[in-house]
Amino acid sequence: MHTSGSATATHCPYCALQCGMNLRPEPGGAGVTVEERADFPVNLGALCGKGRTAPAVLSSRVRLTEPLVRTHAGRLEPATWEEALDAVAEGLARTRRSYGADAVGVFGGGGLTNEKAYALGKFARIALRTSQIDYNGRFCMSSAAAAHQRAFGLDRGLPFPLEDIPRTGCVILVGSNPADTMPPALRFFRELRENGGTLIVVDPRRTRTAEQADLHLAPRPGTDLALALGLLHLVVAGGHTDEEFIAERTTGWEEARAGAMAHWPELVERITGVPVPKLREAVAMFCAPESAMVLTARGPEQQSKGTDTVGAWINLCLATGRAGRPLSGYGCLTGQGNGQGGREHGQKADQLPGYRKLTDPAARAHVAGVWGIDPDDLPGPGRSAYELLDALGSDVKALLLMGSNPVVSAPRAAHIEERIRSLDFLAVADVVLSETAALADVVLPVTQWAEETGTTTNLEGRVLLRRRALTPPPGVRSDLEVLHGLATRLGMPKAFPTEPEEVFEELRRASAGGPADYSGITYARIEAEQGVFWPCPAAPRTGEPDAQDPAPSQPAQAAQAAPAEPGPEPEPHPGTPRLFLDRFATEDGRARFVPVTHRDAAEVPDAEYPLLLTTGRVVAQYQSGAQTRRVDELNAAAPGPFVELHPRLAARIGAVDGAPLAVTSRRGRAVAPARITDSIRADTVFMPFHWPGEGRANTLTNPALDPTSRMPEFKVCAVRVEPA
Ligand code: SF4
Repeated sequence: MHTSGSATATHCPYCALQCGMNLRPEPGGAGVTVEERADFPVNLGALCGKGRTAPAVLSSRVRLTEPLVRTHAGRLEPATWEEALDAVAEGLARTRRSYGADAVGVFGGGGLTNEKAYALGKFARIALRTSQIDYNGRFCMSSAAAAHQRAFGLDRGLPFPLEDIPRTGCVILVGSNPADTMPPALRFFRELRENGGTLIVVDPRRTRTAEQADLHLAPRPGTDLALALGLLHLVVAGGHTDEEFIAERTTGWEEARAGAMAHWPELVERITGVPVPKLREAVAMFCAPESAMVLTARGPEQQSKGTDTVGAWINLCLATGRAGRPLSGYGCLTGQGNGQGGREHGQKADQLPGYRKLTDPAARAHVAGVWGIDPDDLPGPGRSAYELLDALGSDVKALLLMGSNPVVSAPRAAHIEERIRSLDFLAVADVVLSETAALADVVLPVTQWAEETGTTTNLEGRVLLRRRALTPPPGVRSDLEVLHGLATRLGMPKAFPTEPEEVFEELRRASAGGPADYSGITYARIEAEQGVFWPCPAAPRTGEPDAQDPAPSQPAQAAQAAPAEPGPEPEPHPGTPRLFLDRFATEDGRARFVPVTHRDAAEVPDAEYPLLLTTGRVVAQYQSGAQTRRVDELNAAAPGPFVELHPRLAARIGAVDGAPLAVTSRRGRAVAPARITDSIRADTVFMPFHWPGEGRANTLTNPALDPTSRMPEFKVCAVRVEPA
């Protein structure tokens, strides 16, 4: 490994907190070490074990450093880059010739930088001319994104910065466990309580986060929607609604109110298992202070009714006037490193850069103009992530995959693995031979976070710059270089530059005027300002707040921004840390209540499968584990999967702590050691999803899709459990 220069300020490659860190070259160029970067306001120098050990993947002995091409004998063998790129271009072109453009699929990832996500979406649509592109972020926050759009007219994970959390009065944290997923974020909740605020955690498990809460509600998995309706019922019954806010800033209250009133507390107790007194306690805590927030994560979102579930929590915020006001609101704690930016720049099946809708003629015309093509040549929306993976080998014959490992991370994973194996052609760009890359016809070894420059957008909507801190090993290329190499072979090299800043400049133009407007953001500004919050149009709009206003207003109006009058150079737009304070981003500026009612999960327990399975993460591993399973220190801390179950359930089925348990669902069987703990409901078992093989949790999970977001139901399915 080669290093260059002194310490470089950059960001962690993993989760959506995007902690700041400094990378200092080790003497002799052996690698880099992580140092504290106390000036970055999100983490103030703190890092979790994953961030501290991230450089280990740069120098891992299992790192890919040369392309691999599958031979006629069926083995992956080293090849030159020319041979590998020729093989990919030919594999994709051959499929297109034989079956049409939509027989070629593209699958991206929420860890790709904004530049890569943008280039990948553009590559799919103008180089391959396929509509079949989606990304693994569909499995992450898509229900929250859909609910955000529906209620507020715009989706940005957090519509306020994290620094607002300690200053609000109460936070309800629904299906989120930052103690394990993003430990440095815990300080915001700790400070909230030190300041006299209260924390309510909703989770079927008493997680390390729940242990720090003032109140823990442990609903049956898949019933968060009913829980939110029950709380709203009690809000109405207790006279805690904010009638002035409802009248002036919302629409649709009466229908939403009627839905909540049909969910009386005793019914909600029966559905959720949360006792009525605890519901009352939660309402009292939430309604007492002047300001409050609801934050969701994957728990309520990864359900076949995820959009409505998040919508129910948003309704609670709206009914109590806890949205669009200082220190109040609904937000989503996004999971993947660039889960936010990854969904804004066109790798999502239904979207174009700038968070524009692919079906909107004006959006198509704008982006086609930037890309120099006829809008009619832009394909329409394609399949969502699970539907795309499910179509592999049938309608979709070839796949180009970047930054994802669906063999481990997709629901009903054994089926998806079988679909991937049935492809005519698979090309994977990755840093290690992931379980998915191992099935490829061509594997392209690519650069990692510390070896390249690019932007990410963290869970607050803060656009950040990751900087190159060391020279990549010979033999690897960046994803942008891969796309350039393929585009060259497909006849359009100029459309795919390899320099990240050049791509970002084009992204700025493509996003200009869209909901996620980056046109006023430059690399220089990000460096100078510790990140810039979108929307940030290139020129200020008439009548908007000045640069010092801590609560600049709406993005939606950016789309209609009038050109600046000639005259002195206008002040740059300050970015938008806080959204919706004056108006929501809907056409009439009002937030929309959406009427929702409880419905069961797609699978409920029965005689054959009498228990519920829920899945999640552990602190020392990240997502499919493709990177973190290659780090010795993390493996020592979290060496493999386990099945968490309550002592009463363990006694009933004869489970012994540490002994193997078989968990069986309608989709397959997984085996992992029992971990007996009273921190989980007795009707529920939990498995972390980071591992492949026998203990692969996603062998069991249910791909039942949310009708709006197309999110699979990772968080609940019916299983039976027995000693293996
Ligand atoms: Fe990295 Fe997330 Fe850990 Fe921060 S919390 S160090 S961003 S994995």
